[in-house]
Amino acid sequence: MSVPVPLVIGLDVGGSSVKYVAAALGSAPGDAPQVLRRGTLATPGRRPVAGLVAAVAEACGSDEVHALAVSIPGLIDSGTGRVIRVANLPELDGVALQEELASALSLPVRVINDGHAAAIAEARWGSGQGRADVFTLALGTGIAGAHVLDGQVRVGANGSAGELGHVVVEPGGARCSCGQLGCLETIVGAPALQAAWRDAGGSGSPVELLRAFGDGDPRAVAVVERAASALADAILTLLALVDPGCVVIGGGLASAPHRLVLRAAQLVAERASFHQVPPILPAALGRWAGAVGSAATALECLGEDALGATR
Ligand SMILES: [Zn+2]
Repeated sequence: MSVPVPLVIGLDVGGSSVKYVAAALGSAPGDAPQVLRRGTLATPGRRPVAGLVAAVAEACGSDEVHALAVSIPGLIDSGTGRVIRVANLPELDGVALQEELASALSLPVRVINDGHAAAIAEARWGSGQGRADVFTLALGTGIAGAHVLDGQVRVGANGSAGELGHVVVEPGGARCSCGQLGCLETIVGAPALQAAWRDAGGSGSPVELLRAFGDGDPRAVAVVERAASALADAILTLLALVDPGCVVIGGGLASAPHRLVLRAAQLVAERASFHQVPPILPAALGRWAGAVGSAATALECLGEDALGATR
């Protein structure tokens, strides 16, 4: 008799699209999940729970699914899987998503933060592979961070550990979306970079700003130097508090040429005093990291007995 494969679904919910992977256990303990299918759907607006149930049906096709994990771009109660706040998907604010999906699908379900899901994959099977202590940063519209120890994210007492984007690097600076003044996001977040580039006389997206920096455009050099300096100060704070084995930097702004990251890494090396500067590396897994990290989380919620029975 053939042993049934425990198929799981990982969903990565973004502001405009949901990425899904249908996956099974890797061939050896510690391997990445085997991705059997993957795809992208539009993010459901109204009635988001029903929309996510439909996404699971699309992802699993005619196969039986054994567990689900969903990553959400916002703050999650890590104990209950209730969504506390999501800036880009207000329909999910306050929704007991884990409980509602588990009830609708009769499956084990986990709901996690999207930065944490991507960090799990990147730390275990991406640039952090082989290291026990990894800090990941995702540079985009916002700046997400996660500390991954032995493959598990340290979420902190209230689920908000690792929020390096909200470390103050310019006291009295611009107002951040979180309400503080001078957070890292107010200088290095994509909207802040774009505004600074426009104020300097440039045009186009932050990716074009980074290209102009590479070409030596003095206007772009001034903007990127300020951003790299702020990022370096935040990383030095991180090294002082956490002392990670490596720092992995991904997200849209890091994948388009890595110049901002490279410059920040140079400044960290110049400014470090007592700190042991770890490798500062670009992320390796790209845009599917969140869905793969969700699938890994879904496999974990099958429990040791279910996993042991299938090996
Ligand atoms: Zn902030």
